[in-house]
Amino acid sequence: MRGGNARAAGAVTTRMPEQIPLASSSIATDSGDMDRSEEVAPDLAYKKTAIVNVAFYGRPGEPGWVLIDAGMPGSADAIYRAAAERFGENVPPSAIVLTHGHFDHVGALPELAAEWETPIYAHRQEHPYLNGTRAYPPPRPGAGGGVMSRLAGLYPRQPVNVARWLGLLSENAEVPFMPGWRVIPTPGHTPGHVSLWREADRALIAGDAVISTRQESAYSVLAQKPELHGPPQYYTPDWNAARDSARKLAALEPELLLTGHGPALRGAEMREALKLLARDFDQIARPGKS
Ligand SMILES: [Zn+2]
Ligand SMILES: [Zn+2]
Repeated sequence: MRGGNARAAGAVTTRMPEQIPLASSSIATDSGDMDRSEEVAPDLAYKKTAIVNVAFYGRPGEPGWVLIDAGMPGSADAIYRAAAERFGENVPPSAIVLTHGHFDHVGALPELAAEWETPIYAHRQEHPYLNGTRAYPPPRPGAGGGVMSRLAGLYPRQPVNVARWLGLLSENAEVPFMPGWRVIPTPGHTPGHVSLWREADRALIAGDAVISTRQESAYSVLAQKPELHGPPQYYTPDWNAARDSARKLAALEPELLLTGHGPALRGAEMREALKLLARDFDQIARPGKS
């Protein structure tokens, strides 16, 4: 497997126009300190654990913070350290809010929830995947090409069971413990996928509804080049809904965009890329017939 951008045979072979370099509008992610999260607003930071981001809502040193998503399996310690660095030692969050329940967003969730005894909020349609009753449909190995999607069949699919702590995120309502933030339903990648939106500073936490690295390719997962893409192809079952969701997010005209995979982006260049992705979603993001 040489050449990180190589696509699987039979996958889309045209150069995809979604790979818009956004270097000038990306926010540096290399803080030089493994324990630190990257602050993108006075009360918002994020941290990359392995291939996926978690976000921290709340001001440094103040209690009442919220963890958004819970990383890969095995990332609990990294999340503890980043939380301690930002909010102080042994300051549990008021809540954990989930964009969706894929394994790379709930990996540390059972451990964190048990340690913190903190409520977990997710959309009603994600609950079956979080209370042990249902597994997500199998990924489409090879979709989108690249080594990550070829390995997708090996990803764990057994649902976690955090029913004990599970609470409801209501569509278009305020996010619990996050004043000023609204729950935007963005289904497609999963049935109950949500994004979080704060009108005041036009900050958007998009989960995997759109992402800022090409997740299918191990190369750009590692390089974290700033770009904008549709949701990870091997894991998205409803492309019409995913398109509508991307369009909904583009119409918000965010100033700051935090995604599940890839660096935070901000500004006009990001908005243009998001609009282009939304407009030409079927050509850019949707996998070819296979
Ligand atoms: Zn996902
Ligand atoms: Zn993801």
